[in-house]
Amino acid sequence: MKFIPRQPREGINVSDTHPLVEAGTLVAGLTVIFVLIALLLIFLVEIALYFIPVEKEVAMFEDWLPDDLVTVSPADERLYQTQRLVDRLAFHWADAPYSFRVEIDDSDVANAVALPGGLIVVTEGLLDQVESENELAFVLGHELGHFRNRDHLRALGRGIVLSLFLATTMGNDVSNIGVNVTDLALRGFSRQQESSADEFGLALVYTHYGHVDEAWRLFEKWDDSDSRMRDLVSYTSTHPAAGNRVASLKQQATREGWPVEGLITELKW
Ligand SMILES: [Zn+2]
Repeated sequence: MKFIPRQPREGINVSDTHPLVEAGTLVAGLTVIFVLIALLLIFLVEIALYFIPVEKEVAMFEDWLPDDLVTVSPADERLYQTQRLVDRLAFHWADAPYSFRVEIDDSDVANAVALPGGLIVVTEGLLDQVESENELAFVLGHELGHFRNRDHLRALGRGIVLSLFLATTMGNDVSNIGVNVTDLALRGFSRQQESSADEFGLALVYTHYGHVDEAWRLFEKWDDSDSRMRDLVSYTSTHPAAGNRVASLKQQATREGWPVEGLITELKW
């Protein structure tokens, strides 16, 4: 019997699947792997948080300041007053493991952010908009709430591992990864982290003043103001919508039986 070699079928090296579909599958597969690795890194950060005690965090970030922070003069009266207010509020947080330090960022955009090591940055834009100490106290109390839950370290940890991951996979220069306050502020926290910081902040304000009058007045003003005004307030892009916050804070005050009217303390600057 003579062997007659059969010609391979036409296009044997060409896949039956359309090249675009194949490319799509590849991209989808890579995306899934990418997302899974990112989730794994976030999970590892959660584990690391258990192993980094606050004392260690404080020692690591003792004199640290974000790269892009433009601080006001150390002699600025607002710095002194804000620091004093933070200390007075933190006094009611029994066994607070941090000694908090305040810096004022020379920015017109209203914002406040909690950073590793017990650093609280408030912007000049925010200080321009608060009209009483009570208004400011709640904003600061809320940031103290983030420290209690260590949200600030979680955000930083996630930010760093994810930037390193992106830099290594995208081939960017890893040494360029600086930590700046804008990044951290823009990252924001989850709704649940925000509402638990709000609850803690309001409790501090009540314990300090014996009432919660004007605690949420800043948010009422932002909620009433027009959208152009809202653009100037980056605080609301990293925090829940002002209207929703006012509603939950009022609910908390009613539930706890905290007076919503009381003596207002003026700011002395
Ligand atoms: Zn917050």
